[in-house]
Amino acid sequence: TVMVRSRMKRRRKWRRVVGILQDLEESCETPLGRLRQMVDAVAVEMQAGLVSEGGSKLKMLLTFVDDLPNGSERGTYYALHLGGSYFRIIRVYLGGQRSSLQVQDVERHCIPTSLLNSTSEVLFDFLASSLQRFIEKEGHESISSQDVKRELAFTFSFPVKQTSLSSGVLIKWTKGFAISEMAGEDIAECLQGALNRRGLDIHVAALVNDTVGALSFGHYHDPDTIAAVVFGTGSNACYLERTDAIIKCQNPRTTSGSMVVNMEWGNFWSSRLPRTSYDIELDADSLNSNDMGFEKMIGGMYLGDIVRRVVLRMSKESDIFGPISSILSTPFVLRTDSVSAMHEDDTPELQEVARVLKHLGVRKVPLKVRKLVVKICDVVTRRAARLAAAGIAGILKKVGRDGSGGGGRKSDKQVMRRTVVAVEGGLYSNYRMFREYMDEALIDILGDDVAQHVVIKAMEDGSSIGSALLVASSHSVRTIASV
Ligand code: BGC
Repeated sequence: TVMVRSRMKRRRKWRRVVGILQDLEESCETPLGRLRQMVDAVAVEMQAGLVSEGGSKLKMLLTFVDDLPNGSERGTYYALHLGGSYFRIIRVYLGGQRSSLQVQDVERHCIPTSLLNSTSEVLFDFLASSLQRFIEKEGHESISSQDVKRELAFTFSFPVKQTSLSSGVLIKWTKGFAISEMAGEDIAECLQGALNRRGLDIHVAALVNDTVGALSFGHYHDPDTIAAVVFGTGSNACYLERTDAIIKCQNPRTTSGSMVVNMEWGNFWSSRLPRTSYDIELDADSLNSNDMGFEKMIGGMYLGDIVRRVVLRMSKESDIFGPISSILSTPFVLRTDSVSAMHEDDTPELQEVARVLKHLGVRKVPLKVRKLVVKICDVVTRRAARLAAAGIAGILKKVGRDGSGGGGRKSDKQVMRRTVVAVEGGLYSNYRMFREYMDEALIDILGDDVAQHVVIKAMEDGSSIGSALLVASSHSVRTIASV
């Protein structure tokens, strides 16, 4: 009877765990009807954000980028890119033709975690010193021998209220950054000041959101590119909008008649979003609660933590993971690259899952439990990817490229134009299942007829290179204007 009782106890616990999984699956459901509602909501919120400042949770920020690079740019340009987890420095050479673009040097570094809550002085001095090192190791054939000032784009992957192409203030930190005395500071000026203090003859010529850099790079290679999305630590999108649709902008005249709008879609919100108790807890524990609700469901920084919270809950409500691991209770210990490694584990014994769990202080879990963990990864990532697809379809709807004849352009119903969306970021490029679920959902939402005209183009380092291209194209406009 003792054995029978303990077997029954084990079964009860297993049922409880399966119940947790079922609840998760139900609350993460994204059937096509719901995705379509999301598409509509995104398009509606975009419109509201364009009409008035604060009209929507979507900030729809002006970028002052109207002319996108076209291939004729010349010169040597630099970009310094502060992302969510990495920073990069690159130098590009442009010879006046697309084919002559050369990325001459790239440096990628992890952002030291100590920087995340340091001071603005420490952050900018860190960036300036990294740039100084980069420049000091340049060969003599580089720009230094040409005796011209170096022109730099600052790719800054955070929400900025821009006042021109080269100036703007930080609205709010995201992605775990919490450097206090910076809100309200002009970001480009801060960097310029730090460079000057080190005696570096570098001009911060543009302040560029990473999505805008990605769009610029995408457009440089393929003029049908009208939007760009970043799926990295955080998530965001930008797109090319007609200036007459940007009603909140009082002086919208640009030579091209359009302007790139930085949506800051991470802050999108709709009561129809499939939100779970884990999302609510994650938000409450975050540095920016009640903010960036969409990003917290689709951003690479958060997916791992959602999975961790589910596993922790299961571990607390049963003993299938053994004694509760203190590591597992630590926020953000489970990173999204480990989630993708577990999700895509194709070894028969799920050794990769076992390895990751061991790192989390969970040892010797049976295969059945490892399979359960894979399922959790699947549910969380599938939801993220499908919501991301709805976001992209929302943009297409807003610009009348979703085949519905919306966007005020009726003719688009008959003739679907080729439409390219540039995509950048590790979550998309390194996580095959995320990519597959997203592509599949986009086809489901748009239908085959429309989807065949929509190209999702993945890029690497596009945000940084594209930002440098923006400096180059603004430079060539200035040069022409001054002739
Ligand atoms: C920021 C955006 C950025 C995105 C992707 C978000 O947290 O608010 O400005 O584009 O991350 O890096």
